[in-house]
Amino acid sequence: MFWDQEAETMGRGGLEQLQLRRLKATVRRVYERVPFYRQKFAEAGLQPRHITSLADARRLPLTTSADLREQYPRGLVAVDATELARLHTSSGTTGKPKGLFFSRKDVDRAAELMARCLVMAGLGPGGILQNMMTYGMFTGALVMHYGAEKVGLLVIPSGPGNSEKQLLLMQDFGTTAIHTTPSYALYFADYLEKKGIDPRRELSLRQGFIGAEPYSEETRRKIEQGLGIDVYNSYGLSEMNGPGVAFECAEKHGLHIWEDFFLVEIVDPRTGEPLPDGERGELVLTTLCREAMPILRYRTRDITSILPQPCPCGRTHRRLNRITGRTDDMLIVRGSNIYPQQIERVLMDIPAVGRNYVILLEGLDELTVTVELAGAGFGGQVEKLVRLQTEITDKLRAEIMVKPKVELVAAGTLPVSEGKARRVIDKRSL
Ligand code: ADP
Ligand code: ZN
Repeated sequence: MFWDQEAETMGRGGLEQLQLRRLKATVRRVYERVPFYRQKFAEAGLQPRHITSLADARRLPLTTSADLREQYPRGLVAVDATELARLHTSSGTTGKPKGLFFSRKDVDRAAELMARCLVMAGLGPGGILQNMMTYGMFTGALVMHYGAEKVGLLVIPSGPGNSEKQLLLMQDFGTTAIHTTPSYALYFADYLEKKGIDPRRELSLRQGFIGAEPYSEETRRKIEQGLGIDVYNSYGLSEMNGPGVAFECAEKHGLHIWEDFFLVEIVDPRTGEPLPDGERGELVLTTLCREAMPILRYRTRDITSILPQPCPCGRTHRRLNRITGRTDDMLIVRGSNIYPQQIERVLMDIPAVGRNYVILLEGLDELTVTVELAGAGFGGQVEKLVRLQTEITDKLRAEIMVKPKVELVAAGTLPVSEGKARRVIDKRSL
């Protein structure tokens, strides 16, 4: 099933021609209307007419998250004030926020891409989507909301948190799909288990669109088992509309990224130099259809690679591998490079491990991983607990080359956040 079959299955040649046409128009637009880009072009001795092929894109300046903050509030706007339709902001973790503007067409196109994603995951009229992301300045909920309405779904704008209310809505209105983060999905699965509710028999859930944070295949399986749903990985970022940038099809092997809207590159995060297809690096995206705020070569800091093989589903837009984290997620512990994702994968693959954990770094590189036990735990059987503790410690050491201290706690005792989980606490005095 397709939302826009022609666009989604366009031959690569035609797609690339379209990309080039749109790239040229975008380059002209920012050159003429955005002083920030005009200056960057001048510094690089570059003019719009120098861009004659897609390969020339690599001559364009890279845009960083710091650039977006420096241009706050309106520095990157490329339309008249009367053409602006919506403002979102992204706070990130430090410093000034980023101001992200949409024109009316931008709002509609973001919804259009989201619609492709939802139909790709098998949704259509009659579907009932409970949107458990945060509504507000964050793009996560609204872009999904508009896309879902376009597809003809009934949308329940429940927002995040309050599991009791979420459950009631599901029971009373027969929710068939949810949109939430992996951490909340896991938490909610725990909640159902505690209440003794079997989602397969008592709820109508079929699909989950799970994203906004990195998670592993092991976590996908845990969510699918816990909620009795099919989980589709959903990737997006506020700078590029929010959700709907890349999404899994029924193959669930990589996320199709909509290349008629985004020019995709993978670069070496250290040098910014382009890497060939298949190699892992930092995802860099250029908007090809944005009116209000086009962005050239945005360094997402997200680590992934391109899967170049054609997809059996028939879509020609290439797939990204599961995003494994951000370039700035890497922790250096006793000389080893560790990604939190490695720890997550090991933990979620151990059945006795529950659905939440915290990574704490303190003092001189002391690493403690606190792990919730699954469901009922072991009813105080110390011997079994010690065995599990040793198993987790050994498996983690084998994966990250550092021996952590492992602490086990009862299910439901670690804090859960409504938005994105904060799983790494770094208190080192380095
Ligand atoms: P913030 O930058 O404040 O976290 P965003 O909502 O723009 O706000 O977050 C986008 C980021 O979230 C992405 O750049 C990426 O790091 C992460 N993200 C979103 N979806 C996924 C996903 N499916 N897998 C991994 N990471 C994701
Ligand atoms: Zn596919």
